[in-house]
Amino acid sequence: MTEKELIQIGKKWQELLYLQDWDLKFEFQRFEDGQDYHGITHYQKELKTATIVILDPQFYKSSSLRPQNIEQTVIHELIHLHLLYWNTHDCTQQVLKEQTCELLARSFYRNIKK
Ligand SMILES: [Zn+2]
Repeated sequence: MTEKELIQIGKKWQELLYLQDWDLKFEFQRFEDGQDYHGITHYQKELKTATIVILDPQFYKSSSLRPQNIEQTVIHELIHLHLLYWNTHDCTQQVLKEQTCELLARSFYRNIKK
């Protein structure tokens, strides 16, 4: 997938998830070795600007449990933007929030994907 295709997917889901009031950028990057996440969002909530960074497919480990699903990762990261004000330092709640984002992303991906 090219970065242009990533941006198209990102814009599509930005609209589907009602995030049009955000100024968003989407890009591929290589993550530091030892990091096991597939995407990360850098944001400034006061300005509603964010950069959604997705692991560059060429650096996705073939030993991973599942094939890389870029679109689902984009959805997951965008859902985080809706939950910014529910940030917590409690580890259990952080895990539950991650699981919720992932379950919603899977559901949206399977049921709304066009
Ligand atoms: Zn997450």
